[in-house]
Amino acid sequence: MARYTQESRERVRDAIDFAELVGARTELKRAGQNRLQGLCPFHEERTPSFGIDPVEKLYHCFGCGAGGDVFSFVMETEGLDFGAALESLAERAGVELERESEDPRDAAKRVRRERLLALLERTAAYYVRVLWEGGEAAGAREYLLARGLDEATLREFRVGYSPSRWDRVLMASRKAGYSEEELLAAGLSSRSRDGSGRLFDRFRGRIMFPLADERGRVLGFGARALGSGQQPKYLNTSDGEVFHKGRMVYGADLARAAAAKAGRVVLVEGYTDVIALRQAGVPEAVCSMGTALTTQQVDALARLAPRVLFCQDPDAAGQKAIGRGLEGLAEHNADRRTGTKVDFRIVRLPAGQDPADVVQASGADAMRRLLDGAIPVPHFEVERALEGDLTGTDARDAALSLAAESIAPLGPSVLRSELVKLVSDRLNVPSTLVESVIADPARRRRAAQAAETAAAAAAERRRRAPATGSDDGPAPWDDAPVVHEDPGPEEGFRGPNGAHKVLDRREQTERAFLSYCLALPAEGEQRLGDADLEQLFAAPMTRRAAEYLRGRLRTPAADLPPGDEALARLVAELVIRAGQLEATPAKLELEALQLDLSRLDRLIAGARVSGGEGMRELATQRQVVLDAIRHRLN
Ligand code: ZN
Repeated sequence: MARYTQESRERVRDAIDFAELVGARTELKRAGQNRLQGLCPFHEERTPSFGIDPVEKLYHCFGCGAGGDVFSFVMETEGLDFGAALESLAERAGVELERESEDPRDAAKRVRRERLLALLERTAAYYVRVLWEGGEAAGAREYLLARGLDEATLREFRVGYSPSRWDRVLMASRKAGYSEEELLAAGLSSRSRDGSGRLFDRFRGRIMFPLADERGRVLGFGARALGSGQQPKYLNTSDGEVFHKGRMVYGADLARAAAAKAGRVVLVEGYTDVIALRQAGVPEAVCSMGTALTTQQVDALARLAPRVLFCQDPDAAGQKAIGRGLEGLAEHNADRRTGTKVDFRIVRLPAGQDPADVVQASGADAMRRLLDGAIPVPHFEVERALEGDLTGTDARDAALSLAAESIAPLGPSVLRSELVKLVSDRLNVPSTLVESVIADPARRRRAAQAAETAAAAAAERRRRAPATGSDDGPAPWDDAPVVHEDPGPEEGFRGPNGAHKVLDRREQTERAFLSYCLALPAEGEQRLGDADLEQLFAAPMTRRAAEYLRGRLRTPAADLPPGDEALARLVAELVIRAGQLEATPAKLELEALQLDLSRLDRLIAGARVSGGEGMRELATQRQVVLDAIRHRLN
């Protein structure tokens, strides 16, 4: 797909009134030159820790770590991807976007894709008309209304009905100028195997659920049989040019704004559950396309909200689905490239009921209570271990070791101690027994295995870091004075979406230095201009920010690369922090010395590992820097 030109991106950025855009979400008050602050729109709080720079159009929250530029703001508050955020802002500002000039082959591809999407769109509209106007669809209407779904909500989801005649879509699409090949590519037609090679409509006599992407573009259909003679019960568009089942999250287009606001997304099993929940006032509901979640689906869920409530019928199949969902989640959370970790929780539905049943039988409030009562995965696993008949000694022992396995990976926490108590209460055994089973040799072996994996990952990180030295060990000297003016309410920095990430001292030093450079751009440019950034910055993300900011300290937001959320977030944070510093050249000097000290510490640690060569020279340099720091502090 052709990208929009940087020039048109910048025209959009220039045209948007950032204070007004953010002001629509939270009330902002002036807090110094070029600084507005207010309550964070991304997390609940009573005292404002959210700040924006209306000129650079950057925002940062010291409480939850949310931050970025004007595009990230729309992406986060409206749950859009970069392209969609750009288009939406362009529309608001009345700016016409220009595409980068395209390779003719790419252009042809884009035109073809647009034609296929248009074909799917008009077909979806046709099915909707048939559902509400066609005599043949009376049974389908009856079925849907009997499920408690009303017409307005069904229309929002563009639910439709495919007529049972074999060529309705085929004929109409041909008349509209679509080729047979396009009908096949869009997944709307199948080819007859009777030797004639004729095409016929793939979907006939079924309730049609359009499967749309996050931006609401129809990519395919899920079709439910109505009669009992129809097989299979559910029929989907096959994977093809535009539709990929493994990427699809049904309802994401309608759920995204609500999910961004609520900070959670509810994952259910079926299309009608999604629709029923929206109708019941839970608009942040989606479903995946089958029992196992793919990594792409988990990524899509993570984009919608930081917390996923897993809502499955607790029957055997549902249990399995939860297990497989958790595998996808673990993969997502283990991937170091994904910045956001998903907090997965399990909703305990009454046995044999799906969300649509609960809403219909017990009402929307009952459903909301179940959602609010969702429990963390280890808690769910422990409860599952304790289910069933626990009268025999063997059964109780088995339950105990099963539960212990779920508790063992947890660090010291309230959750852990609650779960230990839960097990000891339920099995009526002392909590010391539970603790000792958690700590038994088999489990210790597993723990050792996990530790080994973590150590290997740490070694890999060190290998990639350009400067030698240990990342994880204690600082080689603890006498180094560390002085930081930290304007935020917190000592550490927080990661996105409230995931607390306390930075190590080294990374704090690196970021503080960059904030001072931003606060004093003239001096800052000088310092960044001739520095060896590879040597000076050990944290990869901070180094990236330093490379980006070099030469851009006066206009830090102007050409943030599109869609680079992590960079936008960090730059925004540095700019907002810079605005709160009382920066003087002397303080910048001190930060630069701190940074140099941390560079020398790394070199010395590296030298020590490789036999001590050059240690003396480095130690002398370090002493000089340390003296300079002490001198300036006095
Ligand atoms: Zn916040």
